[in-house]
Amino acid sequence: MSARRVNGSTRGHERGRHGSSSGPLSLSSRGLAPLEHKTAVVTGASSGIGAAVAHTLAEAGARVAVGARRVDRLEDRGGFFALDLDVTDRESCERFVERAVAELGRLDILVNNAGLSLGRDPFWEGSDEDEATVIQTNVLGLLRMTRLCLPHIQDGGHIVNIGSIAGRQAYENAAVYVGSKFAVRGFTYALREDLLGRPIHLTTVDPGLVESGFSRVRFRGDTEKAKQVYERVDPLQPEDIAECVLFVVTRPPHVNVDELVVKALAQSSPTRIIREEQ
Ligand code: NAP
Repeated sequence: MSARRVNGSTRGHERGRHGSSSGPLSLSSRGLAPLEHKTAVVTGASSGIGAAVAHTLAEAGARVAVGARRVDRLEDRGGFFALDLDVTDRESCERFVERAVAELGRLDILVNNAGLSLGRDPFWEGSDEDEATVIQTNVLGLLRMTRLCLPHIQDGGHIVNIGSIAGRQAYENAAVYVGSKFAVRGFTYALREDLLGRPIHLTTVDPGLVESGFSRVRFRGDTEKAKQVYERVDPLQPEDIAECVLFVVTRPPHVNVDELVVKALAQSSPTRIIREEQ
């Protein structure tokens, strides 16, 4: 199916970082909790959604410890603390959290964002190795980082898990990724039960199609294939998701946004996407 672009809207990367000086960032003027004096940890902040989230939280006043394996790609200037992190490696996670707490002094926000998909093939064509990487990163890494950070999270603090609409609706040739994101959503629901009564907020932010490094990783560096995913459609941009994260962590203390699902307008499911006519 195809359709024309709605109202001639421009692509997100042409829009740039919309809302950087108004809208959700002028929170103090609206009497909502600003992020001054707050601290945050963002995993997988070397690219895409994680980089945008770290940037947006820092713009809102937070000091942010950012982690990823490609440490050279992490923002490392005033207010940012760039630390190497491999969420699949327990020692790396322990070292990261120890250093983040030492630099920041306290933790208010944890954004569990690090994640990936490998391949787009029928399940039986996958490999043990790829499955282990996806589950280790998306599920066990997220659990590990949550367990390590939780004791340091202050009253009123917040855990945000970046899930996916793949964790809500299965689609073909993505069984392990879909399974991993269903697991993240199940874990988030269960952790909410365990945290009930404690002053810690918990949210799953579940994006649809976001233009990031995700498809390049999924297609193992095949940039042509990756580009096709975002062709003739106006996908979400990492900044759109960052604004969602900022929204959920700046609600009044008595409010918990449990789930936030956000898709491109031209998308109703992981694979039902209306593209422009060629
Ligand atoms: P991306 O641009 O490829 O970013 C992924 C980030 O995860 C990178 O910073 C990467 O850093 C990090 N990462 C991967 N493995 C890691 C590990 N073992 N330890 C630490 N960091 C690791 O893709 P993205 O779209 O921003 O993805 C971010 C999250 O959004 C993922 O959880 C993804 O599942 C989710 N999501 C994406 C989409 C989408 O359409 N793009 C939709 C829904 C949900 P290094 O490689 O430097 O370690």
